[in-house]
Amino acid sequence: MGCIGCPQCRGKLEKVIYQSIEIDRCSLCRGIWFDRLEAEELRRIKGSESVDIGKPTPCQGRPCQSVGCPRCGKTMVQMLDFGQQPLWYEKCSQCQGMWLEAGRFKVFKQNLPTPGNWARNKAKQVLTVARSI
Ligand SMILES: [Zn+2]
Ligand SMILES: [Zn+2]
Repeated sequence: MGCIGCPQCRGKLEKVIYQSIEIDRCSLCRGIWFDRLEAEELRRIKGSESVDIGKPTPCQGRPCQSVGCPRCGKTMVQMLDFGQQPLWYEKCSQCQGMWLEAGRFKVFKQNLPTPGNWARNKAKQVLTVARSI
């Protein structure tokens, strides 16, 4: 897999390795690309929020713009994670990769369900919204 570009700006994604999990972070907007399940694994690791070094974008609600998957080029689907804070993120339906804008991985990590309410949260966790382009 060669060098991939940021789905959101013209920046380049740079490899960042945290506790042997390899993610790709944009050198300009600091958004982070996670391959399948990497975000789930990473948010369970203590201190992993340190990889999210960017400032959150002004639009806190839905993502600012449509983005295409940096791996397959497919337009990604906007997903909403319900936790302590609602969090919008982008997911590729083909490779299951995830794009989180700068500052969002921290929220995603805070939204990690505790074992006790895991099943309850899981049921309402993800809502897929058709993208309007
Ligand atoms: Zn970028
Ligand atoms: Zn993809």
